[in-house]
Amino acid sequence: MNWLKEVRSVFRVLNKKTILADYKKMSRKKLGFVRSRIKHKIDFDAVALLLGKSKAQKIQKTIVKPNEFEIFINQDLQKIKKEILRKEIVQHILIHELLHIENEDLITISKNYNKRKKKKIHINKFDEEIFNRYNKLRKLKGIMQIQKREYLDMAIKKILKSVKQEKIP
Ligand SMILES: [Zn+2]
Repeated sequence: MNWLKEVRSVFRVLNKKTILADYKKMSRKKLGFVRSRIKHKIDFDAVALLLGKSKAQKIQKTIVKPNEFEIFINQDLQKIKKEILRKEIVQHILIHELLHIENEDLITISKNYNKRKKKKIHINKFDEEIFNRYNKLRKLKGIMQIQKREYLDMAIKKILKSVKQEKIP
């Protein structure tokens, strides 16, 4: 997805990561999501454990930070016929998902739901950062920046509502 390439210019920290993006059929309530296979590394002394050394009873299980990610965008958004408009919405979703990657939320997400709830990933600061990156991207593209987050939220909500009602601009 070329639109992703453009968005990645405001996510330099993720330069070395492999990130794919595609449309996918998903629940109407969802706009997109990101996934990755989280691997665990188990480090312990097998010999010591089998021989009954007490120190060996502590087995360290560590998470290996993933390098590959897949972002999926709700395929319903393809109903937005005006491509330059669809691009704005899709790139806004991509920013949301890339920010989860940057914040390493996936490691928490994959573990268990309770921990994820504790981390509270969708906080106000998160949304504010999406807005900042989105405006930064617009600046790079030479499109006028949006003054207030609430204006952007309202505009996106309105477009998404029209998608649901099949009155697509
Ligand atoms: Zn999210």
